[in-house]
Amino acid sequence: MQVVCLDLEGVLVPEIWIAFSQRTGIPEFSRTTREEPDYDKLMRFRIDLLAQHGLKLQDIQEVIGGMQPLEGAKAFLDTLREEFQVIILSDTFYEFADPLMRQLGRPTLFCHKLVIDEQGFVRDYRLRQPDQKRHAVNALKGLNFQVMAAGDSYNDTGMLGAAHAGFFIHPPASIVEQFPQFPVNHDYAQLLANFRAASRRLLAAA
Ligand SMILES: [Mg+2]
Repeated sequence: MQVVCLDLEGVLVPEIWIAFSQRTGIPEFSRTTREEPDYDKLMRFRIDLLAQHGLKLQDIQEVIGGMQPLEGAKAFLDTLREEFQVIILSDTFYEFADPLMRQLGRPTLFCHKLVIDEQGFVRDYRLRQPDQKRHAVNALKGLNFQVMAAGDSYNDTGMLGAAHAGFFIHPPASIVEQFPQFPVNHDYAQLLANFRAASRRLLAAA
């Protein structure tokens, strides 16, 4: 029994806040954890910024609805789902991911939630669980699944380390130097081949 866990942003879809910043023309939305390492501060900043610009959830979803998954992502995911059960483990929010998940054929998604007020403004956010990606992989292992995973960034390294086989796909160079234990993939075909090879290896070892 094998499961594949995939990160969402930077793997299957663009970085949502950065694309959102470009589409709205509001540069402050592209601020990331690189500029503001305190995630809670960063989210408060974003929520305030949305309110300042009068952007309600519906406006945000319309902007995100104009975005598309990365080229080839849907076909890759479709093929992967024919061979494995796939769970997307993401640090985005259900409300933001929804327009993109629709375009991906609604795979299973575990992520976080926004708090929306009666007027439709984002007021707060709720993490489903801190470090949820790593915990999800460990929970799946507890259910006797062999887990394979792929991601592109720092917030994936816990998940990749916990999995039986963990891979990077088009990660930034800085992270590759820091985590040389995770093989780097440059495209979906290479990642698919690596998942298949790891799957055979894990089945043989089980
Ligand atoms: Mg990512």
